Amino acid sequence: MYRYIYDRSRKQLCFMCDQPADTGEHIPPKGFFTTSIRSNCQLLTVPACNYHNESTKKDDEYARTVIAAGSYENKLAWDLLEERVFPGGSSGLITSLYEKMVPIGILDSGGEELYKFDIERSRLGRVIEKIIAGIYWHKNGSRIPDGYTIAPYSRDHKIKSNLWNEILSLPTQYLGHPDVFQFKYGEKANDKNAVIIAMAFFKASYIILSCICSKNETPKVE
Ligand SMILES: [Zn+2]
Repeated sequence: MYRYIYDRSRKQLCFMCDQPADTGEHIPPKGFFTTSIRSNCQLLTVPACNYHNESTKKDDEYARTVIAAGSYENKLAWDLLEERVFPGGSSGLITSLYEKMVPIGILDSGGEELYKFDIERSRLGRVIEKIIAGIYWHKNGSRIPDGYTIAPYSRDHKIKSNLWNEILSLPTQYLGHPDVFQFKYGEKANDKNAVIIAMAFFKASYIILSCICSKNETPKVE
């Protein structure tokens, strides 16, 4: 399968709309990577108009914080929290997350109390949709066509086992660094109008699965 990247010297359209690209957008957002990874790995950039480059900056930071916090047992996720979130992150964001944390009455293996907080799914969803659009562009060199909807769902949902097996059978690929972001991509069997894009951050169990389907064919989640 061909792979496309942002090429400053060529006229390219934005990965999310039909405007000419002004800049490159990192997929996944570069805030998911520590400085040392960013200096040693090639991150994917796709062409973006200024609007789509700027429109999710705050949401990117939010998604980075909640996903890294949810994956803290992964060393690179912890490194990222130490480098980018605890000292330099938006203090307002950290404070608002702390305020929402609720003890769940369970201790982890080190005897520390575990907490949970509710995730703002719409903010996370905007970032996930952007990453999906970026992967689609990377694979096809064009944005997701009109008439298609992105239907994200997570592993928490009970996915039909044949769909789950189909997802697992797709080759695992990565962007930037395999410990930070892995994904699977493929056309859905028996449905050439649907594409499967599955992703995992920090190799954690935190996996978001998505299908891109035509409007008539919403993915069936039991
Ligand atoms: Zn755009």
